[in-house]
Amino acid sequence: MLLDFGPGMFCVVVVRDLKLMTSMVADRTCDGDQQPRHSSEAATAKRSSFSSGPPHSESAWLGALQGARHWSPQSPKASAVRSGWVVVAPHPDDETLGAGGLIARLARRGEPIRQVLVTAGEAAEVAISDLAERRRVEHRNAMTALGAGHVPVIDLNLPDGRVAEHENGLTEQLVEIGRALSKYPLALIGPLAHDGHPDHEATARACRAASARLGCPLLEYPIWAWERFEIDAFPVARAQKLMLLSSERTRKARAVACFKTQISPPVGPAVLPPAVLKRFARSFETFVAHRPGSLVP
Ligand SMILES: [Zn+2]
Repeated sequence: MLLDFGPGMFCVVVVRDLKLMTSMVADRTCDGDQQPRHSSEAATAKRSSFSSGPPHSESAWLGALQGARHWSPQSPKASAVRSGWVVVAPHPDDETLGAGGLIARLARRGEPIRQVLVTAGEAAEVAISDLAERRRVEHRNAMTALGAGHVPVIDLNLPDGRVAEHENGLTEQLVEIGRALSKYPLALIGPLAHDGHPDHEATARACRAASARLGCPLLEYPIWAWERFEIDAFPVARAQKLMLLSSERTRKARAVACFKTQISPPVGPAVLPPAVLKRFARSFETFVAHRPGSLVP
């Protein structure tokens, strides 16, 4: 595997034949982002966090998040992270939905960012044979829209819907990536631990394990939690809001629009219908701080 983090260089590293270290339950079947199903064990453990009814309204979420602290990468606590922001996405689009504003901010400030794509999201619609390549193209276009077209992308190419089967190997890869940056203070940005999608949750567990081994902070972004969480169960006390500039919101909106296969697919229902997309058109992004080493949110 070639990891070229040269400044200003755009590179895509496709890692094939990642050493598999299967330790998770075997029944994690999932069709990409579209119809996530949970392992019975994991789902049972987290069920109390999930709403059994329809998603909470946007106004209800905005009210719940009113008390969340404000945060920015320029804040004193974050200022130590100067050159090692690693944004991990289970599928192409998660980084834009969850952290597109942050990526735009960091890119504009010239802070080196690395992006890790865990899967190509090829299982979101099996009727589209070249979906993986389409989604990679969409991702590249989105990064350009965010002003981050120069950001190195590390494409791990794990199977969409089966990240949990590769969870330990993913942890090792993230640790390797972090150690390659060890001359810099490092921060990981990854999906929320109990986001309601098996790939997101497996990626989150790997990020948590990697952050513990690297001794680096981890900020988690929600995606499906906005649709599935009980508001009372959301960890507002650890939530931090990054207020976005109007220019960053514009960039993010353009970037989100790049994911046409998810918003207006040629076949099948949209994975990202307007009701879901509105969660990511807010004037702020939400990150949940995770204490390295802790397994409990
Ligand atoms: Zn996803």
